[in-house]
Amino acid sequence: MRDSTEHVLDDGVGRYTRTRPVRRAMSSPWSFLLLLGLLGWVVLVPDYLLYSLSAAVPVAILGLGLLVLQGWTREISLCSAGLFGSAAYYFSWLDRSTQEGKGLHTLVAAGLAISGVTALMAGLAMASSKLPAMYMIVLTIGLQITIESTVYTVGYLSGGTSGGNGYGPISDQRPHPFGISVQSDTRFYFFSLLWLAIVLIGLIRLRRSPTGLAFLLVGSNRQSAVALGIPAARFRVLAFTTAGFLAGVAGVLASMLYISPPLFLSLRVQKSLLLLAIPVVAGVDSMASVIVIAAFLIVGPVLLESFHIDENFVWSVVLAIGALFGARGIGGRMQDLERRMRHGARRMRTKRKRMATVVLREADGLAHEKTYVLSDEERAACLARIESWLPPRPTTEFAVRTSDIQLAFGSIHALRGADIEVPSGQMVGLIGPNGAGKTTLFDVISGFTPADSGRIEMFGQDVTGMTGWDRSRLGMSRTFQNTRVITELTCGDNICAGAYQAVKVNPIWFLLGRRSAWDRMREAEEVGYAAARLLDVHKYWDERVGTLEFSARRRIEIARALVAGPRLLLLDEPAAGLDPASSSALFDLVRQLHQDLGLTVLIVEHYVKAVLDTCDLVYVLAEGAVMASGTPAEVAANRRVQDNYLGTRVDYLDEDEYEDEYAYADVDVDVDAAGLPATVQP
Ligand code: ATP
Repeated sequence: MRDSTEHVLDDGVGRYTRTRPVRRAMSSPWSFLLLLGLLGWVVLVPDYLLYSLSAAVPVAILGLGLLVLQGWTREISLCSAGLFGSAAYYFSWLDRSTQEGKGLHTLVAAGLAISGVTALMAGLAMASSKLPAMYMIVLTIGLQITIESTVYTVGYLSGGTSGGNGYGPISDQRPHPFGISVQSDTRFYFFSLLWLAIVLIGLIRLRRSPTGLAFLLVGSNRQSAVALGIPAARFRVLAFTTAGFLAGVAGVLASMLYISPPLFLSLRVQKSLLLLAIPVVAGVDSMASVIVIAAFLIVGPVLLESFHIDENFVWSVVLAIGALFGARGIGGRMQDLERRMRHGARRMRTKRKRMATVVLREADGLAHEKTYVLSDEERAACLARIESWLPPRPTTEFAVRTSDIQLAFGSIHALRGADIEVPSGQMVGLIGPNGAGKTTLFDVISGFTPADSGRIEMFGQDVTGMTGWDRSRLGMSRTFQNTRVITELTCGDNICAGAYQAVKVNPIWFLLGRRSAWDRMREAEEVGYAAARLLDVHKYWDERVGTLEFSARRRIEIARALVAGPRLLLLDEPAAGLDPASSSALFDLVRQLHQDLGLTVLIVEHYVKAVLDTCDLVYVLAEGAVMASGTPAEVAANRRVQDNYLGTRVDYLDEDEYEDEYAYADVDVDVDAAGLPATVQP
């Protein structure tokens, strides 16, 4: 049986993974077991445990928000318990007043409570969007303590210190949302599962959309996200906002469950800290694990009650154990197991098929070794797929021009008027000794490091003051000296993570499941798969990148840069760390992409032979300025370049000096462009 998420293209591009996010998530055996467990729980356990599992649902929703924040975006919030409590108390207060005939409708009360905490989190993230993650930890602790000393102390909200009983507004019944009674624990359990399902569907869609992949790229490496046109700072704010929103939803649901809202003493700063156990154990990318862990953290202490084990102790142990599993957590291990199960089965099928083919071929006398070579038709199909995704070819003469760029780091003058011109549609090499300023010039061009002075033009537009992602939007993609792939994700996800800016669809349409949005995403996947085929990494499409060798990671990064839809590709030492054979192969591939797709390529590289063999134009940088430029032959023949960089340490003499040198032999000497004796005539 073929995997329902696969699709075979008959136009030569090959197989790619079809985007059906929810169906794909549900096809996992873990999702099936989880669903079975959640539904079986109703039948198998006593009422008090059913109530406990209902209590785990808000915690799971809160945990899913933390997964977005901590797992995807690698940011930490220490005010989750405070936001959860605030939403619960405010909702309860607004809604309980309704029961006394003077308050708001349940849905309005829920909307206000959720919006309040969402706005709080968004405001905090916006105000600190330029600060490092460390400051956000401090600021969220500050917010938690502020909530504790304000919301928690107000008697009519939490029953806190100002004359309360330690509990918030007390009621004898749950609200009736949409006029449906959820009074019984069984009904409420299904009601809370419905909320969980809605949140899950939304998050699964978000995760599979370009926006979700962009979140993961921002979390894994901000600069590489910016280099592909993803506004990293905005994504950070979005992650905090999502976590705030889900904390609000969780608080409102908990408030409905408990009839009277939870005791504020259990929602203090240490609970915010312990809540981190959920994303830590679940790892970067496993929603099913978040739900299982939340269930364990709530139901576990209830089951252990007879042993007098403190709830906080259980949470602390889980947090400590989770940390031992590293960034991928238990969820990552489960995904590995699932992948092995799926791929093991697929490999067996492929092996059987191949054996059958060999038997047939042998019977025909046609048996032969098959190596990976794309046929001309396959190659043309892959290129056509990518070409259709790229923006129109530039009409300006130059893709990039820098003039009089000056940049100093303290007393080090990294760039001293490095002027380069990259003609559109050409492959240009940037070489030079270590510390010459090549990477710094790349950083200045891509907008990561502002120059002290000078001007940068991209496709005829002055981009000197533009942010990195705005420059990427003009059609620039960049790779880095050290590979910056998301090691926890598959090759396919890594490549498609570059699609964010090229897809150009409002994330809301992905959340709402709009067909045209997902069609566009599928197109991005097809382009990604075509790029993977050209770069020979398609065989790793479903494999985790952390398990792949270095050269495959480099090629995946280049494929990702292609999916971003560039017209200008900046490659920073793509051959660094590769053996000569892999380096040559990589350069040949880049050259092919440049020729076949008309891409402008600016490449920094120490592997000089490859640059001279493949580039149309070469700049040699030394001490922050251009030492020489020209065609590879001109640069190779340049005496200063040979002397100072290429390592041909010869004393150059002019013709007369050579003749003096060889006077004893009485010869005429002609020197070539490189200053070497070309013809010696007696
Ligand atoms: P390599 O080939 O070794 O990567 P490079 O030509 O790319 O070298 P750069 O990395 O651009 O050289 O560095 C140019 C100079 O600027 C070096 O002297 C380096 O030490 C200095 N430099 C680069 N970045 C910084 C920084 N962030 N702070 C201080 N000095 C820096």
